[in-house]
Amino acid sequence: MELRLVGTNALVTGGTRGIGRAIVLALAKAGATVVTCYRTEGEAADSLARELKELGGDHALVRADVGTTEGVEAVLAACRTRFETLDVLVNNAGIISQVPFAQLPFEEWERVVTTNLTGPFMVISKALPLLRKGSSVINIGSRGAMAGIPLRGHYTASKAGLVGLTRSLCKELGGKGIRFNVVAPGVIDTSEPEELTEEQRAAYDERYLRMMALGRFGRPDEIAGAVLFLASDLSTYVNGETLHVDGGV
Ligand code: NDP
Repeated sequence: MELRLVGTNALVTGGTRGIGRAIVLALAKAGATVVTCYRTEGEAADSLARELKELGGDHALVRADVGTTEGVEAVLAACRTRFETLDVLVNNAGIISQVPFAQLPFEEWERVVTTNLTGPFMVISKALPLLRKGSSVINIGSRGAMAGIPLRGHYTASKAGLVGLTRSLCKELGGKGIRFNVVAPGVIDTSEPEELTEEQRAAYDERYLRMMALGRFGRPDEIAGAVLFLASDLSTYVNGETLHVDGGV
């Protein structure tokens, strides 16, 4: 048993920033060939393309929104041109949103659920013909889906839905040898709370830091470590699990 991903074909959604970027680079450094996607052109996408090029290999970066059927089709087309099978699928692309429930418009509910839950549904269902015995599907959930977070009912509902989908698919498709698991990050230091003002951000930091047994936020590469474990032969009997990576909340 070893953590070696040479010859492994991987798809990671939302790979240009934050946790997704750390996952893409960790998989590529372990030897996998990675297809990833993003929505916004700019330095994040350009610099990831440069880093992947330096690592060598047939990696691909596709501009595609996995909250749309066309976007999902574009990402899967990039996989099909490179891969006959898909060994690792990481549904990472996700958006955060903070709105008091009483003011939550249906459109905002729909925007968040479409990216965070319908997106993974569409990606998994289109990827199914490429999945084989030994493939590992890893959905990025959230610690908050279990705990609940004020102002984020739509976000936590989408992530809790992802856990239900994962557990059901693990039972439905386990017979084919395909594993489905969730990695549930705690508070990871990425750009996620970008919608907060400086004052709100300070209150957020204080509130959450107090809850962390390790007394600090996590780093994207610490989530990538858990994903590598679930992607590799080190976890061949782990199925239907939610692995909390939250520093001990
Ligand atoms: P970031 O906002 O830092 O990065 C998100 C990445 O996903 C970007 O590359 C973004 O690219 C891409 N992306 C977003 N939506 C789409 C879409 N519809 N289609 C394609 N690409 C998309 O997020 P984080 O790294 O913080 O979060 C990653 C995942 O981890 C999310 O699912 C999030 O819910 C989860 N998570 C994060 C936590 C944290 O503390 N950071 C805590 C718990 C869970 P672009 O901007 O170009 O669209």
